[in-house]
Amino acid sequence: MADRDFTMAIVGFGGMGNWHRELVETIDHLRVKGIYDIKEERRIFAKECGLYAYSSLEEVLSDSEIDLILCATPNDVHKEVVIKALQAGKNVVCEKPAAITSKDFEEMMAAQKTARLFVHQNRRWDEDYLTVRNILEQKMLGPVFKIESRVHGSRGIPGDWRGCREHGGGMVLDWGVHILDQALQMIDGKVKKVYAELTNVTNEVVDDGFTATLFFENGLVFMLEVGTSNFINLPRWYVLGRDGSAVVRDWDLSGEVVRVTNWDKNDAVPVKTAAGLTKTMAPRTEDTICTEPLPVVHSDIRDYYRNVMGTISGDAEQIVKNEEVLRVLKLMEAIFRSAELNQTVDFE
Ligand code: NAD
Repeated sequence: MADRDFTMAIVGFGGMGNWHRELVETIDHLRVKGIYDIKEERRIFAKECGLYAYSSLEEVLSDSEIDLILCATPNDVHKEVVIKALQAGKNVVCEKPAAITSKDFEEMMAAQKTARLFVHQNRRWDEDYLTVRNILEQKMLGPVFKIESRVHGSRGIPGDWRGCREHGGGMVLDWGVHILDQALQMIDGKVKKVYAELTNVTNEVVDDGFTATLFFENGLVFMLEVGTSNFINLPRWYVLGRDGSAVVRDWDLSGEVVRVTNWDKNDAVPVKTAAGLTKTMAPRTEDTICTEPLPVVHSDIRDYYRNVMGTISGDAEQIVKNEEVLRVLKLMEAIFRSAELNQTVDFE
């Protein structure tokens, strides 16, 4: 808990900038004083929200009342805003993806002298992710050999800057950065190899989806997929262990864990298909398995900002570490490399 008050300015007051404004209103010891956005309509909206509308980034940086800046501009603008803010001695929360390349992010990290840089990897607080982590930590499924993580939609690439390469568009950077970060947080150990394919169903300029397979050094295979032309969604999470399986179907946390309770009883009633017979694929009889609810974990996203304030005050350890952010950016570069070469590439 912070024992001092923090005053924040938002640079880039679009959809996500406004999400932060609403969130901060519910957090003790933190307030938003004002915003800077290049669009006049957003500055007018800020005034309607009771905020000060700065006329330039320089005006924000020279305001001695501001001790924290949120950067929620399009991706290609992050680097310039973050470096200028850090050089002006302002702590920064930067939206994801922190940068378009790992080299850019290294430069941003190096600009931290008197102030600190935080990246908003907010989906570490998503309850579906925390619940799957809980399944792994409790070892509910025995040794886990495969995890599949997917986000599916059917709206194609959004019509804004996300469709432009020069603004850092595309789904690897947009959604990939979240689910790759979750994957690396979840599994201890190196990713030895990566194989990826990009999709261009709705446009030819940026990837509108991808599949990536991460081969961890412990043998675990992690499959990730972002799709924007999926009119039927596959489950958000599918986890396979030697002794059971788990599914988390959606963000509403519907799903279950199924575990073997009796390995010895192996009777199977063969399934007759139109053209044949199978015992191998016959469902298990109910007396050899148990079906359990998901061990749901709840979270409070306000803990993100509490950690930022605690870290700046010296009372907490930064949760989203910049070295972890850098590793994800490098993994995204390996994904682009693999897709371009159409082959598996070495990673760590
Ligand atoms: P948006 O287009 O709605 O908003 C971006 C705003 O930045 C616009 O109002 C634009 O006018 C302004 N802007 C552009 N250049 C600027 C500059 N040089 N200085 C000041 N303002 C400038 O986009 P968005 O959906 O809000 O996304 C913004 C950022 O937030 C992106 O990096 C995106 O990836 C990220 N984001 C994160 C999440 C999350 O869950 N963490 C969700 C959505 C978006």
